[in-house]
Amino acid sequence: MRMQDWLQLEIAFPALFGAVVGAVFGSFLNVVRVRMPEGESIAHPRSHCTRCGQTLKWWQNIPMLSWLLLRGRCHFCREKISPLYPLIELATSLLWACCAVTALTGGGTAAVRIAQGAAQAIFCWGMVLLAALDWEQLWLPDRITLPMIGLGLLWQWLRASMASQVPSVLQMELLRSVGLHATRGTAVLMAVFAALAGAGIVLVIRLAYWLVRRREGMGLGDAKLMAALGAWLGFSAMVDAFLAAVLGAFVAAMVWLGVVRWRRSGEAWASLPLPLGTFLALTAVAEVFDPVWLWKHWMALFFR
Ligand SMILES: [Zn+2]
Repeated sequence: MRMQDWLQLEIAFPALFGAVVGAVFGSFLNVVRVRMPEGESIAHPRSHCTRCGQTLKWWQNIPMLSWLLLRGRCHFCREKISPLYPLIELATSLLWACCAVTALTGGGTAAVRIAQGAAQAIFCWGMVLLAALDWEQLWLPDRITLPMIGLGLLWQWLRASMASQVPSVLQMELLRSVGLHATRGTAVLMAVFAALAGAGIVLVIRLAYWLVRRREGMGLGDAKLMAALGAWLGFSAMVDAFLAAVLGAFVAAMVWLGVVRWRRSGEAWASLPLPLGTFLALTAVAEVFDPVWLWKHWMALFFR
């Protein structure tokens, strides 16, 4: 590899910038994740050990690095620190680096691309938070899902306002067939439709499950998350994310059952609490980026 190739600064620098800022925001995400379920303020007090209460020093609070330096234990009381902390910081960091790369190499004017990257970053941040909360608490709080729906609609409006962004061909056809033209208004309308459809899918399954088993299947939090996915991703990507999430959850449940050898009746199996929201949030993030395309760009950074 030649020095020249290293100096693809126009991609490497923003990617690094995205990674560093992403790590910091991932660290903040950890604060929200830990304090929100307890009903604590996310602003006060300063970062502290959840067991001994000692306030962390600056070097114990560096995303990812501190966990490695401390070898996953509190400096004061030796309490284990969950590997979820550095994992979430790493995930946010990588995702934001991807957002920065797409912001640079995507289509459209600079303003459109930067807006796109920023919107992706917000979406990814929310999804990682929801994935973590549902994983740990089986909880998708309204305080996150509802604003995500609103932000998704706002983004669609903003995107349609930017001249170079036009709805996909399918959307145009759909619009024409009902006598509408592609405008900001119709873009938001399509997003509202996708959001309602997303929530509808979960509600129908929920109803069907209740009719058959007289028990709650999917939660209402899942319905709100699906509405957010519809608003952000549009109808077809939302459906893709849903199918992939259900498949992923099913495979994960099978593997888990296989590994743990959970021997109970089929009845107990059916009530196995599955964090479907975690899978939904992860597949939604995968929908945002084109993995093959991203891989090529990352590889182009190193090998040419
Ligand atoms: Zn401690």
